[in-house]
Amino acid sequence: MCDSHNVPKEATPCASGERCCGACKGKSVPTQTTTHEETVAAHSTDPRPDSVVPPTHLEANCTGTPNLDTVTTFGAGGRRVMPQPTLASGPFYRARSLVGILLIALYLALPWIPVGHAPAIFLDLATRRFHLFGLTFLTQDLWLAFFVVSGLGFGLFALTALWGRIWCGWACPLTVFLDIVRRIERWIEGDGPERKRRAAEPATPQTLLRNLFKHSVLALFATLVAHGLLAYFVSVPELLRMMAKGPSAAPRAFALVAVTTGVLWFCFAWFREQFCIVLCPYGRLQSVLTDEHTLVIGYDSQRGEPRGKASKAASPIGDCVDCQKCVHACPTGIDIRHGLQLECIGCAACIDACNGVMEKLHRPKNLIRYDSLTGLKGQPRRLWRPRLTLYVLLLLLGATAASIAVSTLRSANVSFTRMTGSPYFVEQGNLRNQFLLRILNKRPDPSVFTLSVEGDVPPGFALQGVSHEEVQGWGEIQHTLISTVPLSAWEHERRLTLVVTSSKGEIVARKPLTILGPNLSALNSLEQNAIETK
Ligand code: SF4
Ligand code: SF4
Repeated sequence: MCDSHNVPKEATPCASGERCCGACKGKSVPTQTTTHEETVAAHSTDPRPDSVVPPTHLEANCTGTPNLDTVTTFGAGGRRVMPQPTLASGPFYRARSLVGILLIALYLALPWIPVGHAPAIFLDLATRRFHLFGLTFLTQDLWLAFFVVSGLGFGLFALTALWGRIWCGWACPLTVFLDIVRRIERWIEGDGPERKRRAAEPATPQTLLRNLFKHSVLALFATLVAHGLLAYFVSVPELLRMMAKGPSAAPRAFALVAVTTGVLWFCFAWFREQFCIVLCPYGRLQSVLTDEHTLVIGYDSQRGEPRGKASKAASPIGDCVDCQKCVHACPTGIDIRHGLQLECIGCAACIDACNGVMEKLHRPKNLIRYDSLTGLKGQPRRLWRPRLTLYVLLLLLGATAASIAVSTLRSANVSFTRMTGSPYFVEQGNLRNQFLLRILNKRPDPSVFTLSVEGDVPPGFALQGVSHEEVQGWGEIQHTLISTVPLSAWEHERRLTLVVTSSKGEIVARKPLTILGPNLSALNSLEQNAIETK
């Protein structure tokens, strides 16, 4: 085995990328035919210091020393390089495991926990009713989502400005699920070094069987997650009913679960952290949301450099012994000692790995730690910055707007519109205006809705059609309402208000009711003309 890495020397032609033992330390670009010994010999004679070696993509992958100009999980020609992280057990790993278990329990429980008349989260697409923690939204209420989403977005901005990728490393569902995936992988294929060794060996029937078993377990896990997701859209009782009856009873739901399972399996088995790098918009926004005072996971280069083994050094060196345990523990395959990088998801595995090394060497911990870039340079960290003020103000604005908007939600949706066609009719000495009334009960219980009219009501006014109506839970009624005013009492346009009250006394709507009629002076002159013509 290699001195520094857990990869057999003989099985590591450097130009192939990820299998390199790392002993060459990025000092040249070897060719496909270069043997490990030749590469190390070539590097040992390279006079350039590490800092001036041109960082090329091939070098980074060849030598296992990723740098700022490369994406470690992309190999030569854009080939996928799959990191095989080594488990770094420590306080952060234990804390993240606990948080992960709690979050998964929460994700699974939310469609089960009843809040009010529905599960805590139930996005009922079939009836277009969305239940969120006791509130029910209909498609007509979707404009509220703008305030909720923007409020959450600005909250995340403020969180990122303060604590960097805390969401990515600790709470993002993908991170939480990938932690489970890596546990499955460790259980079946062993820890990082063992997986690397197996990957370097020629495929055998045993390897293929192990691979098949691993992917079957990952597919099973993806199926469970897909069913858990479906419960958010069809409710748990309905999901159980569908599962009991089989795919033929709900072919569309079955197809949806099958596609979701496929996508999740692809993500678990292959795509993994590439999602954060390539697809996640939040990941791409990081660089503009953070600054040098944001809490990040960083390497204390002042303390760590120059790195190397104390026993082999002629002059005093830093605390980093260049064991590369932080690199091997990293699920995205980066070397945090190169500084803040796009791929870092803030999982803290490198902190645990390095603290373990420091503990063994009886040196102070936290060579890699949570700190700001200014803190890592030994300067004070400023907590409150202008960008944070802006994000918090926007968050408060969004939260206030969302609260006001949600407070306008009523137990029923009422629509009251004038019928198409003529705005009014004059018939048998009466002026008639026609309207269409729709009441949608947004509660599971039936309710009687009463109509009344407020305002400067003209003499003889009457509203025909319905005065009160029982609407079933989640039900909807539609009626034509006709307002009549004796033409003799008609003077001018009247702006009244239709008030709809539920059986619980809640005013669910106040709608404008405008009575239109003929212009009397025009009418009189018309009548006068008619008389004169006769
Ligand atoms: S550099 Fe450290 S914190 Fe960042 S992804 Fe790698 S192990 Fe996690
Ligand atoms: S784990 Fe610590 S000591 Fe080892 S290479 Fe990383 S930073 Fe240096």
